[in-house]
Amino acid sequence: MLRLHMKFSELFYTIQGEGKFVGVPSVFFRTSYCNLRCIWCDTPYTSWTPEDKDITVAAAVEAITQYECKHIVITGGEPFIQVKELTQLSQELNQRGHHITVETNATVFAPIAADLISMSPKLRNSNPAPDNRFFKRHERGRICPDVIRQFLDQYECQVKFVVDSPEDLVEIKELQVEIPIPGETIVLMPQGMIPEELQPKQEWLVEICKEEGYRYSPRAHVEIWGSKRGV
Ligand code: SF4
Repeated sequence: MLRLHMKFSELFYTIQGEGKFVGVPSVFFRTSYCNLRCIWCDTPYTSWTPEDKDITVAAAVEAITQYECKHIVITGGEPFIQVKELTQLSQELNQRGHHITVETNATVFAPIAADLISMSPKLRNSNPAPDNRFFKRHERGRICPDVIRQFLDQYECQVKFVVDSPEDLVEIKELQVEIPIPGETIVLMPQGMIPEELQPKQEWLVEICKEEGYRYSPRAHVEIWGSKRGV
Protein backbone atom coordinates (compact mmCIF):
# COMPACT_ATOMS: atom_id res chain seq x y z
CA MET A 1 0.00 0.00 0.00
CA LEU A 2 2.92 2.32 0.68
CA ARG A 3 3.69 2.05 -3.02
CA LEU A 4 0.42 3.77 -3.95
CA HIS A 5 1.05 6.92 -5.97
CA MET A 6 -0.46 10.29 -5.07
CA LYS A 7 -0.86 13.41 -7.16
CA PHE A 8 0.46 16.38 -5.27
CA SER A 9 1.43 19.96 -5.83
CA GLU A 10 3.63 21.11 -2.97
CA LEU A 11 5.10 20.33 0.43
CA PHE A 12 6.41 22.99 2.79
CA TYR A 13 6.98 23.91 6.43
CA THR A 14 5.26 27.05 7.67
CA ILE A 15 2.65 28.16 10.21
CA GLN A 16 -1.04 27.33 9.97
CA GLY A 17 -2.67 30.51 8.69
CA GLU A 18 -6.35 29.80 9.42
CA GLY A 19 -8.74 28.35 11.96
CA LYS A 20 -8.22 27.07 15.48
CA PHE A 21 -4.51 26.25 15.04
CA VAL A 22 -3.57 29.58 13.49
CA GLY A 23 0.11 30.30 14.14
CA VAL A 24 1.07 26.70 14.92
CA PRO A 25 4.17 25.52 13.02
CA SER A 26 2.95 22.87 10.58
CA VAL A 27 4.07 20.89 7.57
CA PHE A 28 1.67 21.33 4.66
CA PHE A 29 1.22 18.54 2.12
CA ARG A 30 -0.93 19.81 -0.73
CA THR A 31 -2.58 17.21 -2.95
CA SER A 32 -3.44 18.12 -6.52
CA TYR A 33 -6.82 17.93 -8.31
CA CYS A 34 -10.21 19.05 -7.03
CA ASN A 35 -13.81 18.13 -7.79
CA LEU A 36 -14.93 21.81 -7.48
CA ARG A 37 -13.93 24.99 -9.34
CA CYS A 38 -14.27 28.00 -7.04
CA ILE A 39 -14.07 31.26 -8.93
CA TRP A 40 -11.71 32.67 -6.30
CA CYS A 41 -9.72 29.45 -5.73
CA ASP A 42 -6.46 30.44 -4.06
CA THR A 43 -4.70 27.32 -5.35
CA PRO A 44 -5.79 27.20 -9.02
CA TYR A 45 -2.72 25.07 -9.71
CA THR A 46 -4.60 22.23 -7.93
CA SER A 47 -8.04 22.79 -9.48
CA TRP A 48 -8.39 24.87 -12.67
CA THR A 49 -4.96 23.87 -14.02
CA PRO A 50 -3.89 21.03 -11.75
CA GLU A 51 -0.23 20.20 -11.37
CA ASP A 52 0.51 16.55 -11.84
CA LYS A 53 3.48 15.68 -9.66
CA ASP A 54 3.59 12.10 -8.53
CA ILE A 55 4.83 10.70 -5.21
CA THR A 56 4.46 7.34 -3.49
CA VAL A 57 2.87 7.29 -0.07
CA ALA A 58 6.18 6.02 1.36
CA ALA A 59 8.11 8.94 -0.18
CA ALA A 60 5.47 11.41 1.02
CA VAL A 61 5.78 10.09 4.58
CA GLU A 62 9.55 10.44 4.42
CA ALA A 63 9.40 13.97 2.98
CA ILE A 64 6.79 15.12 5.50
CA THR A 65 8.45 13.65 8.56
CA GLN A 66 11.94 15.04 7.75
CA TYR A 67 10.85 18.34 9.41
CA GLU A 68 10.25 16.61 12.76
CA CYS A 69 7.14 18.73 13.22
CA LYS A 70 4.21 17.55 15.34
CA HIS A 71 1.47 19.18 13.25
CA ILE A 72 0.78 17.99 9.71
CA VAL A 73 -1.84 19.60 7.47
CA ILE A 74 -3.03 17.59 4.49
CA THR A 75 -4.73 19.99 2.14
CA GLY A 76 -5.55 20.45 -1.50
CA GLY A 77 -7.04 20.58 -4.03
CA GLU A 78 -9.38 18.05 -2.49
CA PRO A 79 -7.50 15.34 -0.57
CA PHE A 80 -10.50 12.99 -0.28
CA ILE A 81 -10.70 12.35 -4.03
CA GLN A 82 -7.51 10.26 -3.63
CA VAL A 83 -9.11 8.26 -0.90
CA LYS A 84 -7.01 5.07 -0.87
CA GLU A 85 -3.79 7.07 -0.83
CA LEU A 86 -5.08 9.53 1.78
CA THR A 87 -6.18 6.65 4.02
CA GLN A 88 -2.74 5.11 3.89
CA LEU A 89 -0.87 8.39 4.31
CA SER A 90 -2.91 9.49 7.32
CA GLN A 91 -2.52 6.08 8.95
CA GLU A 92 1.26 6.13 8.57
CA LEU A 93 1.52 9.67 9.99
CA ASN A 94 -0.84 8.81 12.82
CA GLN A 95 1.27 5.78 13.77
CA ARG A 96 4.27 8.11 14.04
CA GLY A 97 2.41 10.27 16.58
CA HIS A 98 1.67 13.34 14.46
CA HIS A 99 -1.31 15.63 14.90
CA ILE A 100 -3.14 15.49 11.57
CA THR A 101 -5.47 18.14 10.20
CA VAL A 102 -7.17 17.34 6.92
CA GLU A 103 -8.58 20.34 5.05
CA THR A 104 -11.48 19.43 2.79
CA ASN A 105 -14.32 20.99 0.83
CA ALA A 106 -16.56 18.38 2.55
CA THR A 107 -17.99 16.78 -0.58
CA VAL A 108 -16.51 13.27 -0.11
CA PHE A 109 -16.52 11.25 3.12
CA ALA A 110 -14.13 8.45 4.04
CA PRO A 111 -12.98 7.19 7.42
CA ILE A 112 -9.33 8.23 7.84
CA ALA A 113 -6.91 8.86 10.71
CA ALA A 114 -7.32 12.57 11.51
CA ASP A 115 -7.27 14.67 14.67
CA LEU A 116 -9.12 17.56 13.08
CA ILE A 117 -11.31 17.66 9.98
CA SER A 118 -11.22 21.24 8.78
CA MET A 119 -14.20 21.53 6.46
CA SER A 120 -14.70 24.44 4.13
CA PRO A 121 -18.07 24.01 2.42
CA LYS A 122 -18.38 26.44 -0.45
CA LEU A 123 -21.05 29.14 -0.52
CA ARG A 124 -22.76 30.58 -3.63
CA ASN A 125 -20.05 33.24 -3.77
CA SER A 126 -17.67 30.52 -5.01
CA ASN A 127 -19.65 29.75 -8.17
CA PRO A 128 -17.87 30.22 -11.48
CA ALA A 129 -19.62 32.49 -14.01
CA PRO A 130 -22.87 30.93 -15.33
CA ASP A 131 -21.43 30.57 -18.84
CA ASN A 132 -18.37 28.71 -17.54
CA ARG A 133 -18.40 24.99 -18.40
CA PHE A 134 -17.85 24.08 -14.72
CA PHE A 135 -20.75 26.18 -13.42
CA LYS A 136 -23.41 23.44 -13.21
CA ARG A 137 -21.12 20.80 -11.77
CA HIS A 138 -19.80 23.21 -9.15
CA GLU A 139 -23.22 24.55 -8.15
CA ARG A 140 -24.71 21.03 -7.89
CA GLY A 141 -21.78 19.57 -5.98
CA ARG A 142 -20.56 22.25 -3.61
CA ILE A 143 -22.77 21.43 -0.59
CA CYS A 144 -23.16 17.81 0.54
CA PRO A 145 -25.15 17.78 3.80
CA ASP A 146 -24.66 14.03 4.42
CA VAL A 147 -20.90 14.33 4.12
CA ILE A 148 -20.77 17.29 6.51
CA ARG A 149 -22.99 15.41 8.98
CA GLN A 150 -20.78 12.31 8.86
CA PHE A 151 -17.64 14.30 9.58
CA LEU A 152 -19.37 16.20 12.40
CA ASP A 153 -20.59 12.94 13.94
CA GLN A 154 -17.26 11.12 13.81
CA TYR A 155 -14.45 13.69 14.15
CA GLU A 156 -13.37 16.82 15.90
CA CYS A 157 -14.29 19.43 13.29
CA GLN A 158 -14.25 23.07 12.38
CA VAL A 159 -16.46 24.39 9.59
CA LYS A 160 -14.83 27.34 7.85
CA PHE A 161 -16.79 29.56 5.51
CA VAL A 162 -15.12 32.00 3.15
CA VAL A 163 -17.23 35.15 3.29
CA ASP A 164 -17.26 37.68 0.48
CA SER A 165 -20.08 40.01 1.52
CA PRO A 166 -22.41 40.42 4.52
CA GLU A 167 -25.23 38.89 2.41
CA ASP A 168 -23.46 35.50 2.65
CA LEU A 169 -24.67 35.26 6.24
CA VAL A 170 -28.18 34.25 5.06
CA GLU A 171 -26.81 31.15 3.34
CA ILE A 172 -24.57 30.28 6.30
CA LYS A 173 -27.50 30.45 8.72
CA GLU A 174 -29.66 28.32 6.41
CA LEU A 175 -26.95 25.64 6.30
CA GLN A 176 -26.44 25.84 10.05
CA VAL A 177 -30.12 24.98 10.57
CA GLU A 178 -30.56 22.52 7.68
CA ILE A 179 -27.54 20.26 8.27
CA PRO A 180 -27.39 21.14 11.30
CA ILE A 181 -23.95 22.60 12.14
CA PRO A 182 -23.16 23.42 15.79
CA GLY A 183 -22.50 27.17 16.03
CA GLU A 184 -19.30 26.64 18.04
CA THR A 185 -17.69 24.78 15.11
CA ILE A 186 -18.36 27.61 12.64
CA VAL A 187 -15.43 29.81 11.62
CA LEU A 188 -15.77 32.80 9.28
CA MET A 189 -12.90 34.10 7.18
CA PRO A 190 -12.77 36.98 4.70
CA GLN A 191 -12.37 36.16 1.01
CA GLY A 192 -9.22 37.56 -0.55
CA MET A 193 -5.94 36.49 -2.08
CA ILE A 194 -3.96 39.61 -1.16
CA PRO A 195 -4.01 41.74 2.04
CA GLU A 196 -5.69 44.64 0.17
CA GLU A 197 -8.67 42.38 -0.60
CA LEU A 198 -8.95 41.04 2.96
CA GLN A 199 -8.60 44.32 4.77
CA PRO A 200 -11.93 46.00 3.89
CA LYS A 201 -13.85 42.84 4.85
CA GLN A 202 -12.31 42.28 8.27
CA GLU A 203 -14.20 44.84 10.35
CA TRP A 204 -17.74 43.98 9.29
CA LEU A 205 -16.94 40.27 9.48
CA VAL A 206 -15.75 40.60 13.08
CA GLU A 207 -19.04 42.40 13.89
CA ILE A 208 -21.01 39.50 12.35
CA CYS A 209 -19.00 36.99 14.42
CA LYS A 210 -19.68 38.96 17.61
CA GLU A 211 -23.38 39.07 16.85
CA GLU A 212 -23.77 35.41 15.87
CA GLY A 213 -21.23 33.83 18.24
CA TYR A 214 -19.08 32.42 15.41
CA ARG A 215 -15.30 32.31 15.56
CA TYR A 216 -13.45 34.81 13.36
CA SER A 217 -10.31 33.56 11.66
CA PRO A 218 -7.64 35.70 10.11
CA ARG A 219 -5.82 34.39 7.02
CA ALA A 220 -2.35 34.94 8.39
CA HIS A 221 -0.50 33.50 5.38
CA VAL A 222 -2.27 36.00 3.08
CA GLU A 223 -1.65 38.89 5.49
CA ILE A 224 2.06 38.01 5.67
CA TRP A 225 2.87 36.71 2.19
CA GLY A 226 -0.06 37.64 -0.07
CA SER A 227 -0.48 35.11 -2.89
CA LYS A 228 3.08 33.78 -2.69
CA ARG A 229 3.26 29.98 -2.96
CA GLY A 230 4.89 27.46 -0.63
CA VAL A 231 4.71 29.56 2.53
S1 SF4 B 1 -12.56 23.53 -3.16
FE1 SF4 B 1 -10.61 24.49 -2.59
S2 SF4 B 1 -9.10 23.68 -4.07
FE2 SF4 B 1 -11.15 23.20 -4.87
S3 SF4 B 1 -11.59 24.89 -6.27
FE3 SF4 B 1 -12.46 25.46 -4.27
S4 SF4 B 1 -10.87 26.63 -3.20
FE4 SF4 B 1 -9.89 25.56 -4.95
